[in-house]
This record gives sequence, structure tokens and C-alpha cells, in this order.
Amino acid sequence: MMRVKFWGVRGSIPCPGGHTAKYGGNTSCIEIRFDDVGRQIIIDAGSGLRELGNFMMGHDLPKGPISTSIYLSHTHWDHIMGFPFFTPIYLPSTRIEVFGPVSHESDTLETIVGGQMTYRYFPVRQAELAATISYANLKEGRFDLGDGITLTTKYLNHPILCLGYRFEYQGKVFCTAYDTEPYQNLFCTDSDSTEYDEGMALEGEVVAREQNEALESFVAGADLLVYDAQYTQGEYIPGKVGWGHSSMEFAIAVARRRQVKRLALFHHEPVRTDGEFDELAAIYAQTGDGDGPEIFFAREGGEIIL
Ligand SMILES: [Zn+2]
Ligand SMILES: [Zn+2]
Repeated sequence: MMRVKFWGVRGSIPCPGGHTAKYGGNTSCIEIRFDDVGRQIIIDAGSGLRELGNFMMGHDLPKGPISTSIYLSHTHWDHIMGFPFFTPIYLPSTRIEVFGPVSHESDTLETIVGGQMTYRYFPVRQAELAATISYANLKEGRFDLGDGITLTTKYLNHPILCLGYRFEYQGKVFCTAYDTEPYQNLFCTDSDSTEYDEGMALEGEVVAREQNEALESFVAGADLLVYDAQYTQGEYIPGKVGWGHSSMEFAIAVARRRQVKRLALFHHEPVRTDGEFDELAAIYAQTGDGDGPEIFFAREGGEIIL
């Protein structure tokens, strides 16, 4: 059994306050517990990681030293900003493995994540951390994590290298695909333009379709899929194309096409209020009793057992 818990569900920047208390204001952080084998995996170190760390201090530390793995989808700030506030890094007994993609090989994960901890930005330097922390650059592939846990990684469509994660354990599949947007034809498709080349335009269509199909295959059949849904389609089309995020409509269409059992709409727009979510939920959420997936907006503190 996998227990998946949301500690941060927002995109871009934390947005605490009375108008976000119900769905939560922290940025991306998801915890998976594999209770049968005593393992914990954390996806992303957004501001939600702070609360998770505090919970682990009270819940896990009394049972023994903390040992965990953090898989970063990518290194944009909203996905790493919680790391300096993750209390277990200050304990000598803690062991942490950090995995994630880097866009330039010369820029190591340790420099990017640990680089937040210089006196310029923060009172404690990375070199002063008591815990044993290792960093490993992660690429696309399939990995045996031991204890019967398998991980498949897939590059997403975002301005920097970004990975989706597909965990398989005891016949269940938990999958993440956010910060990502639908692949588009990168060539000019306007036949009146001087840049138009019919061959290139057609080739661009084929490539975009193949990339979208590959991403859909990656999430296919998931028991729980956490997918980027920062915008409504009405918000996405007029001004957000190319920003690296998807619409709720697109996320739902993918989940329906690929027989996903539960879809958590995720990486919420920071300006979205609880009231607006409730209104959107009346349109987009569904119970999953009939045909198609259960669909809901991810909420901080929400827990799902697979
Ligand atoms: Zn993000
Ligand atoms: Zn991003």
C-alpha cells in the first residue's frame, strides 16, 4: 500500500491567508509512505516541506534517525524553497538523498539546491548542515528502488528540464506530471507568413503529436495521477501559452483518454481563492462512480491510500 499526502499544492509562490486556508497556500510537496517496508519518498521541496519536516520531527524521529529521499521535479524556486526550512537537515543523525534533473551538467544539483543556503540569502550555509545529504542528477529512465518499488521518469514540457515520476508498487501506480504543458508545433503554421514551410509545418505537427502521445502513455492507467492544472482553458489560451503549464480541461482529457482512476488537479494558480475553487469544483470535479476517473482539486493535508 502507498499512502500519498499533499503538503503543498500551489504553483509559483506561497499564498497563505484566510482566502486560501481550505485548499492550502504552500508550494509543491508530496509525500509517499510505503508503510509495509518502512520507506518514505518526498516529491518536491516547495514550502510545504517545512510542515512535513516538523511532522517528521514529532512522528518519525522518536522511532529512530530520519532517512528519506527527495525527488525534485525540477529546480524552479517554488519546488526547492522549502529545503532550508526542512528541520531534519539540522540533525547529525539524518540521511537524505536528493534526486532531480539539471539543465546544464556544469550546474550541479548540490549547487542549485544548496546554493540557496549562502549568507547572502540565509543565515546558515550548506556546509554547516549536520545531516548527511547526497545529491544525484536524474535523467529519463526506469529505476529499481528496492523493496519492490519501481520508478519511471519522463521529461515534461517546461522551460527547464523537468521530470514526471511514475512509482509502481504492489500493483498500484502513482504518477506525477506537473510543471508541464501540451507540446505544440514549434514551426510556423500560418501559410500566409514568409516563414511558412509546408514540410516543416507538417513535421512539427507529427513531432508534437508524438511527444503528447509519449507523455500520455507515461501516465496511462495510473491509480492516482497528479497533473498540472494551473489554468482554465479560458485563461491558458489568451496569454499563458509557452509558460509551461496546462489547463484543467487538458488534464481531464488526458486522464479520460488514458483510463486514469483518480486525477488530482495540482500546481494551483496562487491567486485562486477557496471560493473560486469551490466554483470550479462544481464544474470539473467528479466522483468517479460512473464512467471516467474521479477528479478533484488537490488540497493541502489531503491523503489518499493506494
Ligand atoms: Zn512550479
Ligand atoms: Zn516550473
